[in-house]
Amino acid sequence: MSTVPKYPTPKEFLIDLPLYEKVTFQNEDLKEGRELFCFNETLDTYCPECNQHSIFSRIGNHVTTTDASIWVDRGRFSISLGCSRNRKHTLFFLFHADGQTIQKIGQLPSIASLNLFDVKKYSKVLEKRYFQELTKSIGLASHGVGVGSFVYLRRIFEFLIEEAHRNLINDEGWDESNYQTARMAEKIELLKAQLPDFLVENKSMYSILSKGIHELNENECLAAFPVVKLGIEIILDDKLEKMRREQKLAEAKKAIASLASRI
Ligand SMILES: [Zn+2]
Repeated sequence: MSTVPKYPTPKEFLIDLPLYEKVTFQNEDLKEGRELFCFNETLDTYCPECNQHSIFSRIGNHVTTTDASIWVDRGRFSISLGCSRNRKHTLFFLFHADGQTIQKIGQLPSIASLNLFDVKKYSKVLEKRYFQELTKSIGLASHGVGVGSFVYLRRIFEFLIEEAHRNLINDEGWDESNYQTARMAEKIELLKAQLPDFLVENKSMYSILSKGIHELNENECLAAFPVVKLGIEIILDDKLEKMRREQKLAEAKKAIASLASRI
């Protein structure tokens, strides 16, 4: 049996779920819909006005009830959240409840602008062209575009793998013909000296990257999207960490030199 939760949590509904995706609740699960309708938790997410993460909570009047079916066939309802630093910084979400189905039909700011903040830092370690493709890909995925968003992500992943490959190609004992015929999971294993451990340990997750474009379907791509995005982030986090360390070492050298010249 799969342990994947049946329904998005209220937070996923608000922040991650693409617009217009329909979620239908079974009779015995109506209370899960109520958790969204009566949402009264705090939410830690990016505030575009503060330009950093902040804690949000609900503003305006809303219903609190134990009636699980309160939201059923309710038509339009909205959820406004206010930033804890400044209550004028708001996130607005509009939903439509038709029978036992809830659909998010609007929001401000957009899903993309709520999700892009966390990748901004990577512009320092990723070529401009690929950084733009990364943001484009996140934007497409947030609108439920599976294959399109996935193709961009795959290109970035392949670029990063190729970078690691170029660093090893002249090493003694490197078997280039073996590498060229290898599938993605095998390539990751061959490049393990250059790649973060996590990626190497979980290389089987990347077997989808060996599939041809025409073999991919929308849902498969949307499902694989977070895994491939995570792989990219882990490689880029590694690069950021190396860059920071090198900067610190350079600063330390400079400080030592300047101190030596004064003594
Ligand atoms: Zn704010």
